[in-house]
Amino acid sequence: MGVKGYPIMLNLYLTTKKTHFVPSDDVIEETLRYLKQLLIIGEYDEKSQSYAPGREVATLFSPDPWEELLPAELTFENFTVRALGPERFLPERQLAPAFSSTCRMCGDRLDDKSLDAALERLAYFPVDRFVYDCPSCRNVLELKDINFGQATAVARFWLYIEGVATSRLNHPLLDHLARLLGFPLLVVPEHVEDEEGWF
Ligand SMILES: [Zn+2]
Repeated sequence: MGVKGYPIMLNLYLTTKKTHFVPSDDVIEETLRYLKQLLIIGEYDEKSQSYAPGREVATLFSPDPWEELLPAELTFENFTVRALGPERFLPERQLAPAFSSTCRMCGDRLDDKSLDAALERLAYFPVDRFVYDCPSCRNVLELKDINFGQATAVARFWLYIEGVATSRLNHPLLDHLARLLGFPLLVVPEHVEDEEGWF
């Protein structure tokens, strides 16, 4: 359960550690063609600009959770490509309480409320303008001065997979995608409250 009592939804960003990198349109097309051929992604929906899962979507995931998860859980809700616009901090929709963030200067746990306010400003300001005053040591922190307790990235390009049951993906498949895209892939998980899935 999330902070407000909503169920938690897991989303994944497949992105790169190379902050400014955006593959060419041809490379992105080829990558999407590959995922379509494997039937991992299916129909494209113009309205949401996202792909539905394909018939073989389960192969996106590492074989080991297959034993713990039901076949019906080895899927996603939708898949989108983001390849334009400024650099963003990822995961961009996760709230402070879902991280276990500590200050790299003093090691103290950061305050959720003030960190949320700082993370919210990232939606409007460039990532390099991020500042956060550590409530413990009073140092002015940049993003790199915060240990978020999980994988994070600053990127201009990513594949976004919403609504998965596990972050364990099929490694040989990731390696192949990395070769197609031309950079090692970094998987950034995002835990958000699933307000739509709450009945
Ligand atoms: Zn500190």
